[in-house]
Amino acid sequence: KTFKELGVVDQLIEACDSLGWKNPSKIQAEAIPHALEGKDLIGLAQTGSGKTGAFALPILQALLEAPQAFFACVLSPTRELAIQIAEQFEALGSSIGVKSAVLVGGVDQVQQSIALGKRPHIVVATPGRLVDHLSNTKGFSLRTIKYLVLDEADRLLNEDFEKSLDEILNAIPRERRTYLFSATMTKKVQKLQRACLRNPVKIEA
Ligand code: AMP
Repeated sequence: KTFKELGVVDQLIEACDSLGWKNPSKIQAEAIPHALEGKDLIGLAQTGSGKTGAFALPILQALLEAPQAFFACVLSPTRELAIQIAEQFEALGSSIGVKSAVLVGGVDQVQQSIALGKRPHIVVATPGRLVDHLSNTKGFSLRTIKYLVLDEADRLLNEDFEKSLDEILNAIPRERRTYLFSATMTKKVQKLQRACLRNPVKIEA
């Protein structure tokens, strides 16, 4: 199938073209039609499968229809992955001027607060630093978030992150779409799935 057949709009297909993405990967082909229908997703997928595009394209398409700041929040277990995710959002969304902020540890919080002050559409974060900004950055909240992505959910569920994750889930409205991606389907991931997702469609890379 082509991106067009999956329901992706021309503007984003052009962005895929410019990245050299000629055809959807398997996880993209499975995820995108359900996501565009407004379904929650649970995806079993590894890095390298194209999972970032699988959630970024539907989110960007929804953003095109109703542009707003603080539209989507993506949680990542590592700073490297968070940076890569933000880069893909910006590359796919460059023609529509998508702004993102990356909130990760080990980097100056003040710079990140300044990035939040520019009212980005997409926030990509590790859980601990996101919680720090919720308490410390004036005017920043997750109340308008429409899309939540839990990327590498199995790795988000370690002891360090669990308390932060709870706080974040309480700060994001229940009226939202949620996409959970994980390399493995552990008991803890299933519990998180039951707590966070509504009638999810299950897909596999
Ligand atoms: P990911 O699994 O999301 O980390 O993506 C792995 C790599 O595959 C990234 O470098 C993407 O730019 C690339 N990629 C994602 N989707 C496609 C596609 N449909 N065609 C070609 N490359 C892709």
